[in-house]
Amino acid sequence: MSGEPGHYAIRQSPILIIQFKPMKQHEYTRENIGELLRSHGINPTHQRIEIANALFSRQQHLSAEQIMAIVNTRHPETSRATVYNTLNLFVEKKLIREVNVDPNKVFYDPNTCNHHHFYDVETGRLTDIDASRISVSGLPPLPKGTVTEGVDIIIRIRSQAAS
Ligand SMILES: [Zn+2]
Repeated sequence: MSGEPGHYAIRQSPILIIQFKPMKQHEYTRENIGELLRSHGINPTHQRIEIANALFSRQQHLSAEQIMAIVNTRHPETSRATVYNTLNLFVEKKLIREVNVDPNKVFYDPNTCNHHHFYDVETGRLTDIDASRISVSGLPPLPKGTVTEGVDIIIRIRSQAAS
């Protein structure tokens, strides 16, 4: 097969090859990120836009250190404290979500839809799992006077060869 990504090959053989088309992603610009921040009650300062842009333009799970490295390529004056404070503000305002894979490793996730994760303990890579792919049964009754805030599942994986 030599199809380009997104190329549909319909052959005369009974096998119909249809490549999976990636979902069209919303294009983020510094301008609409400013609007996005405002819609979450966040004053869109320059630094906040840069920090949000690092996450939203890539649509990846990033650590604070990775975000800081990205932001610093354009704005070396951005301090670690600013990056951490801004990320905490974003989480608090539900613009992004925090994924704690272990007490020393926190990822920031621009995808706030209900979903779960695979975490590769060898590569440190976090991959989304659609919430509809996992069903949780047998949860104990909630303590009196509480409601479910969310169920987050992290499936830890590593390569088979290393076992
Ligand atoms: Zn995610």
